[in-house]
Amino acid sequence: MSAIICLPVDFRVNSVGLPALLSEEVEGAPVLYHTASRLTLSDAYKVVLLFADGPEAAADVKRARDICRGLAVEYCTSAAADVPNREFLRRGRLWSLSSWRGGMGWTTYYDEAGAPAAMAEAAEKFGADAVGLITPDSPYADPSLAAQLLAWHYDRIRKARVTVTGVPPGLAPAFFSADILKPLAEYKLTLAASMAYKPSAPQRDLATTEAHYESDIELRTAPWRLTAHSLRQLEMMRALAHLGVSPRSANSVDVVRALEAHPEIAAGALPSKIEIEPTSRVDAAPFYLRDFAETRRPVDMPVEAFRHIVNSVRPHRDVVLSLEGLGEPLLHERISEIVAAAKEAGLLGVHLGTYGRLLDESILGRLSAAGLSILSVAIGAHTEDTYQKLFGAGGLREVQAAAEAAFAARKGVDVTRPLVVAEIAKMRFVEPEIEPFFDYWLTRCDWPVIRPFNDFAGQVEDLATIHMRTSKRIPCRKIFAELYVDAEGIAYPCRQDIRKTHPLGNAAEEGIPRLWRCEFMEKLRAAHAAGDYEFFPLCRECKDWYYA
Ligand code: SF4
Repeated sequence: MSAIICLPVDFRVNSVGLPALLSEEVEGAPVLYHTASRLTLSDAYKVVLLFADGPEAAADVKRARDICRGLAVEYCTSAAADVPNREFLRRGRLWSLSSWRGGMGWTTYYDEAGAPAAMAEAAEKFGADAVGLITPDSPYADPSLAAQLLAWHYDRIRKARVTVTGVPPGLAPAFFSADILKPLAEYKLTLAASMAYKPSAPQRDLATTEAHYESDIELRTAPWRLTAHSLRQLEMMRALAHLGVSPRSANSVDVVRALEAHPEIAAGALPSKIEIEPTSRVDAAPFYLRDFAETRRPVDMPVEAFRHIVNSVRPHRDVVLSLEGLGEPLLHERISEIVAAAKEAGLLGVHLGTYGRLLDESILGRLSAAGLSILSVAIGAHTEDTYQKLFGAGGLREVQAAAEAAFAARKGVDVTRPLVVAEIAKMRFVEPEIEPFFDYWLTRCDWPVIRPFNDFAGQVEDLATIHMRTSKRIPCRKIFAELYVDAEGIAYPCRQDIRKTHPLGNAAEEGIPRLWRCEFMEKLRAAHAAGDYEFFPLCRECKDWYYA
């Protein structure tokens, strides 16, 4: 048995599509050095730096050799083409970067980079029967976990040809048997293909099979991505190193414990996700939200105010934006200018969530031209009766047709247009329609999403079938990742605050970074870290703290 772990090295672009930071230093050494150095601590496998052939390949290999001088790593340059849908795979991951899975189209961290054809070539060159994959910007990669995962892979190889462990991106590789890489390369597929559910041939989720190695629970439930893919991440790693949690010596459990104990480091200088409500006006709202939605002052956020807000996060290129809220974004007459302003501010991704009743070819064309990344349509039901009950009006067929037309206009892997998501919420009276909804939309949009039902911390009737969270209460993940801004430009600790009980300040005037680290948010994070869920009264009844 002979295994390698491939690190697909690119000094220009990283796995999330941002400028690569492999040469940036953490504790006196480049990120790439730490990743390679840590992984070489185990002799269960060889570490291979993988380069794509091209005009810069020789210079890149030399640069990597300079960085990794003295380390027992191998170098491999491959002329094999990358998968053609890489941009799709990356865009599908933008709202789930901190988790190993959960991206659109079954995408995982292991779909963001790593061409199976190049990995197959490396397997052949080094005589490997198992090939690991991890991004080279992983300075806290865990060699011991990699070795355990590999042992599990060999042990279960007859049943699983891919082996993963559900830890934060950047901690462990996925392992592929060499013989599965060739068909993946031939059909231009990545790990997502093994994750996919097919209604015609249903099978168990990969994470519940022999293909999943159950590593330490603290690692599997940690909500922090540990790759150095952005300035925020570098700052986080430098702060960890300053605390003594060094990439040179810390084990991965030390890292997640340190982040848990230091909410100010985990929160970073600004949120990684912002939700902004472009308008408070509504054309339709589910019955349980109608009172809130229809009694609010009708306000459209001025484009200039919006510009101030998004420009306040401009230096940090890894922020994603959702244009959503209780209002209907498509009612804002200048919504395409809003999307364009967000793109000009350099946001990594821009999503717009709509009920879809105003969606037509003209608005879709303007949103596409403005650079919208993802369009989600909260369809909410799969039969006219349920739709009528939910929205108090008919129109399901028209909304379905509009969403399907948006998907058809995107044509296969054309990512110049937004990816299209169809959504339904997990409510008791909708439950019988969820499976048919999912199967129907699986081939008619980019990704069907079943959202957990949100009762806004007990402020609306609880209609959930089940709340998606752990049995043990843990600190809210949203306060480390997201900030909500309503149509008046006022930021709130989270979107649960629909009665506007705790305004943090005007985001257009004060900017997102200042509000994110304001005294109230710091105290809220510290309270949660200490197990106090009373500091902000809404937290007591909230059921929405598990996901961010
Ligand atoms: S626990 Fe709920 S109410 Fe409290 S901050 Fe998190 S999302 Fe908001």
